[in-house]
Amino acid sequence: MAEARLKVALLIVSTTAAKDPSTDASELALSDVLDKEGGGKWELVDTKIVSDVVTQIQRQIMLWADIAAENINLIVTTGGTGFAVADNTPEAVSALLHKQAPGLVHGMLATSLQVTPFAMMSRPVAGIRNKTVIVTLPGSPKGARENLEAILKMLPHACQQAAGMDSRALHAGGVKKLEADAGIGSKSKQTQSHAHHDHGHHHGHSHSHGHGHGHGHGDLVRHTSPNTNPISNDPSLGPSRRSRESPYPMLSVDEALQKIKEFTPPSEVITSKVDTSLTGRVLAENVSARENVPGFRASIVDGYAVVVPKDGKLDGVFPVVSVSHAAPGESKVKELKEGEIARITTGAPLPPGATSVIMVEDTVLKTMTDDGKEEKEVEIHVEGVREGENIREIGSDIKADEVVLSKGELISAVGGEIGLMAAVGVADVKTYRKPLVGVLSTGDEIVQHDRPGALRLGEVRDTNRITLMCAAREQGFEVVDLGIAADTPGTLEETLRDALRRVDLVITSGGVSMGELDLLKPTIERSLGGTIHFGRVAMKPGKPTTFATIPVKSNSGERISKVIFSLPGNPASALVTFHLFVLPSLHQMSGISPAGLSKVPVFLAHDFALDKARPEYHRALVVADGSGRLLATSTGGQRSSKVGSLRGANSLLCLPSGKEPLKKGAKVDALLMGHVRVNA
Ligand code: AMP
Ligand code: MG
Repeated sequence: MAEARLKVALLIVSTTAAKDPSTDASELALSDVLDKEGGGKWELVDTKIVSDVVTQIQRQIMLWADIAAENINLIVTTGGTGFAVADNTPEAVSALLHKQAPGLVHGMLATSLQVTPFAMMSRPVAGIRNKTVIVTLPGSPKGARENLEAILKMLPHACQQAAGMDSRALHAGGVKKLEADAGIGSKSKQTQSHAHHDHGHHHGHSHSHGHGHGHGHGDLVRHTSPNTNPISNDPSLGPSRRSRESPYPMLSVDEALQKIKEFTPPSEVITSKVDTSLTGRVLAENVSARENVPGFRASIVDGYAVVVPKDGKLDGVFPVVSVSHAAPGESKVKELKEGEIARITTGAPLPPGATSVIMVEDTVLKTMTDDGKEEKEVEIHVEGVREGENIREIGSDIKADEVVLSKGELISAVGGEIGLMAAVGVADVKTYRKPLVGVLSTGDEIVQHDRPGALRLGEVRDTNRITLMCAAREQGFEVVDLGIAADTPGTLEETLRDALRRVDLVITSGGVSMGELDLLKPTIERSLGGTIHFGRVAMKPGKPTTFATIPVKSNSGERISKVIFSLPGNPASALVTFHLFVLPSLHQMSGISPAGLSKVPVFLAHDFALDKARPEYHRALVVADGSGRLLATSTGGQRSSKVGSLRGANSLLCLPSGKEPLKKGAKVDALLMGHVRVNA
């Protein structure tokens, strides 16, 4: 097969090299191996250096394996595989692997052990994430070189298979041809014999979905061929073959929130005009004053500008030589001299030479001009006048270039941040773009809420879409109505594909339980190539809440990821999980920190029964009593299908699990969804 060269990315894991890249010798050693011994099959497309930090290692690998613009076939890491405290590359990598490749590990170790028993001190891992093969090499250039040499001949085949090339075509010539292509023979009783043992077990792509890759929708990027890594049900197998227990690990609420924090895509910085549409956005830069405020020496009272004599005494009748109004103009006012005064209004620029302003209240009109229209002389009797009195000096409020607002600050509608920017001449500002939210209801039984006429048996009015749209808008996000999708795989897939083109974050409700028509998880994993970060949370209500990211191509052709929250269908569950999980993600994308609802301690106004097994988020009304104590009352009927319990709720009480009820007066945390009233 004379095809394009396979793409390799190299990750150097070394805290030393991260500080000083010139200390790295591995890149040279490994690119040399690829060039000289790789049979012209490899192209090193990217090299990055990170410290021995799990999150840094994982982030770079995910960038390459999940969203890189070119398809990376092989990621090679070097470093951090030993026994030292800081060595954690194998742990970082193995957590990301969708499939393990112990054969490659064995190959590396077997070869190195022939060179030195110290090979035992390397802890390599190897496997596949999405379509990319990943191997970890030791940090010493010599060890890295030997390990790569040990497996290099097998890697083209491994990468092609992992990339989803038709395995029948790959295997058409049998093992002999594969060996010949790889330049090896099975008589060379080496590690390779392990690898081809596996041929024949990996054909697995047997069920077809009719929604594979290469289908005509430009925007979505598939990283997985069908069935490479989903753990959801395969809907084509029917109800008798579905898992009878959710295959998704049950996370705690905190763990789920941690995943959301980790996998919510980064916020996007945009530049926009300073206008009323900015409220609710967060600054992505420090804002400094473009000019001094005030920009000129201004009077802060109505009165008379004077030149203060040395003794601070103004005693007598003074001629009014000029007039200064708070109106702009270039008019050249002549310099004020001691003994002269100038009439001035609040906010007006001082005439040159003036050192103070006497309030009009401290003066008496003495004479007028002949026409009686203007003041000619004014009598003043004051003592202790000081220079600078009643004057705002240039920049006395804000100096030019002074930082007036900081990165991360919210531009509120109440705090005057907009006014501050206006005052200091800032016309454009960088903020984090707010994500556009789409809301979709799913279910064959769901009908438009205002459909006229009585419901037929089994029909349910769509409660969630309108509720979730309102909730998202109330939190300051723009929302797109995505309608109702039927419980058929094709419809749901098409609807979601279309939605992912239009919005940044999709909220669905329904279809995440264990029924055979619960298609969200399979559609996300199997048809959209998405990754489900969690599909089950230990909480009440909202256990099947699902959070996934989907790789898509942005309008500019970049690979980015978009978010899907699939909330349970029951209206109470949907609303609770929106506030608990979706909101933090929306906040994070918008640069709002801390993300999520505010938590405050409250006191129970009556006994609350607890769930024996799961922590509960209980819809409640919190009010402040006369002394400011916050009291919580249940809104009643907390079954997740109960719509009535939503009414009047302004908070979610965080109740622990437990056998005994929590007593009246007990203190618990409440997450505030709405405003708190004061009952005096
Ligand atoms: P599901 O998660 O699809 O099994 O739905 C669980 C329950 O919630 C079922 O009783 C559904 O009829 C109901 N449900 C699902 N979506 C909605 C909706 N948008 N509005 C009201 N009820 C819904
Ligand atoms: Mg349903």
